[in-house]
Amino acid sequence: MNELILRKYAKLAVCSGVNVQKGQLLIINASVFDHKFAEYCVEEAYKAGAGEVIVKWSDENISHMNYEYESVETLSNVPEWAVERVKDEHVRKACYLSIDSSTPGLMSDIDPQKMKTSRMAYMKKMEPFMSYTMNNEGQWCIVALPNPKWAKKVFPDKSEEEAVKALWDAILYSVRVREDNDPVEEWQKHDDELLNHCNILNDYQFDYLHFKNNRGTDLKVNLVKNHIWVGGGCTTPDGVFFNPNMPTEECFCMPDKDNVNGIVYASKPLSYSGRVVEDFWFRFENGKVVDHGAAKNVEALDELLNTDEGSRHLGEVALISYDSPISNLDILFFNTLFDENASCHLALGRCYPENVVGGIEMNEDELKAAGGNTSMNHVDFMFGTEDMTVTGVTFDGKEIKVFENGNFVI
Ligand code: ZN
Ligand code: ZN
Repeated sequence: MNELILRKYAKLAVCSGVNVQKGQLLIINASVFDHKFAEYCVEEAYKAGAGEVIVKWSDENISHMNYEYESVETLSNVPEWAVERVKDEHVRKACYLSIDSSTPGLMSDIDPQKMKTSRMAYMKKMEPFMSYTMNNEGQWCIVALPNPKWAKKVFPDKSEEEAVKALWDAILYSVRVREDNDPVEEWQKHDDELLNHCNILNDYQFDYLHFKNNRGTDLKVNLVKNHIWVGGGCTTPDGVFFNPNMPTEECFCMPDKDNVNGIVYASKPLSYSGRVVEDFWFRFENGKVVDHGAAKNVEALDELLNTDEGSRHLGEVALISYDSPISNLDILFFNTLFDENASCHLALGRCYPENVVGGIEMNEDELKAAGGNTSMNHVDFMFGTEDMTVTGVTFDGKEIKVFENGNFVI
């Protein structure tokens, strides 16, 4: 990729994405294969006034070897200094930029039990610190860069070189970076449009949403009382606006964890714990998944649902028009950052506290009492289709068409 575009993308990630503030500490998570882009991000961050920038490097092939050769005891050992380090970053009000270029399915040959045990150990230790990003106490942002193996997975019929180019084009199109535009300005417009949809939905304060399509989805998702639809950027308690996901096309909200009923059929495969689950469905009763199935890799779903109590309940419902940039590309990215923005989706697992009035200040019990779900998981899956209808039903029984033929009509 040429330098001009790479620098533009880096500036977008630093300024519109994480929006690093004067004097602030920025932590960048990057792969060693993306060192040039990471370097541009560091430079743009200092130009924007960052006080300190720390890059945490990784190499997914080495991570794979760690999982392959280390014992589960070693993998599950989270040293105190690692916890202290994160604590210190939060005390210093750091912001986080993650540059994701992971290969989908890379870990598929690793014993799932080994991965699960070590991941649970890590999450248990780190759970108290998750609220920092989950509650948007500090800014965070994820952007993606292609790599050859990922590109070949998305475009198996192209040569490696062509595949990488095609994936670059798709990513840049999704994040609105072109040679002849100012992406920072375009993102401001985009954020305004998303906010407008959220405002309309917030004014209705629907009791529930009813999703229906020809695939067989017939699902009623109740929303918590005093819910807040969020879309585009977020704001920290200090008033710093940032875009956590680039790209983003969604308006998302908090389902009532005990009030979801019916059946939902996924419209895209789900990449979970190194495996790709295909053609799957869930049946909900009183908010809980009571039955499920998949044409391929159903055991990955079993594992997900059995992680903890909250993994069988919803934590997010998101609306995205079928006619949107990522959806129009009609590519399966095998990466949630992109695929979840191609289609309406739901997430099993923890909710986002920002989706209910006062949620950020609530402790776990208060959040649960408000209908919010808690879990170690938050796993998005796509279910939007071009024939999706969504009807919003108000508390006094009024029915409002929200989606027709897959698109927003309000
Ligand atoms: Zn979402
Ligand atoms: Zn989500």
